[in-house]
Amino acid sequence: MSRSKKRGWLMHLTFTRSPLDHSGVQRTNPAFIEACLSHPAARAILLTGGNVVLSPEGEPEILHPAQTSTLALERPGLVFLGLEGETPWFAASVQPGSTPPGLDFRRATMIAEPDLAAILGRARAILSWHGRRHYCSNCGAENAPAEGGTKLVCPSCGTEHFPRTDPSVIMLPYSGDRCVMGRQPAWPPGLFATLAGFMEPGETIEEACAREVAEETGLKVLSSRYVASQPWPFPSTLMIGLLAEIEPGEPVAADDIEEARWFTRAEVRELYEGPMMRWGPPHYSISRLLIETWLNGG
Ligand SMILES: [Zn+2]
Repeated sequence: MSRSKKRGWLMHLTFTRSPLDHSGVQRTNPAFIEACLSHPAARAILLTGGNVVLSPEGEPEILHPAQTSTLALERPGLVFLGLEGETPWFAASVQPGSTPPGLDFRRATMIAEPDLAAILGRARAILSWHGRRHYCSNCGAENAPAEGGTKLVCPSCGTEHFPRTDPSVIMLPYSGDRCVMGRQPAWPPGLFATLAGFMEPGETIEEACAREVAEETGLKVLSSRYVASQPWPFPSTLMIGLLAEIEPGEPVAADDIEEARWFTRAEVRELYEGPMMRWGPPHYSISRLLIETWLNGG
């Protein structure tokens, strides 16, 4: 891998740098959505059961919106994702069973071009939200899509529902020349990685980082620094990545971590050449970006 390519993945995490303009103002106008649907270059990407529907050639199936009329689409049908230049993009979920099962979403987005992976990420987050929001959480009436399906409105009580994003902190704790990583029971043998957890109401990002590190290792965070963030459409998380300087001490694994321990830089590099390389491409996860940033002294 050339140096420029290596720099490239450091800068370009999967699901980031979407080419889409979400057209937040224009999409409130139904005539704009109609014009997008009938635009000759409009494109619709399809998921089924959260997986990516493939064309007969084995590529992600991309149709004109009009070509989806014969498909068994789940509610609310086509959802407007945004404009890529002049090209309107839509997405829809096809009812499982009415189409082949599709390609596993992670696998599909690991091999997709970065722009398409980002578009697929937005599609999956919005469509999975639709799958869980048929009814108004305020009064129980059936919600109706608005603004091209980028929000739902309850026709009974008027409550507006927006696609949710769940912020999560993900951090590499370190002290001097060593860092602490943990492993979860479900991970491949030998794999250790950053710690992570969902933010709780009433917390700042830094407080969530300190709480999670304390919960999972018993170690105290002295300070933390934001590095980068990554939308993580499984189903709708925003990963907020930090480096956290901690007090030295022996980690005690708890919560969803089965083992946590200190690693030297040399041990981390060794891990990279083994278990972590088998986990997926480096650019796929912000965990790897945080580790790489620390290794490079950042
Ligand atoms: Zn309602």
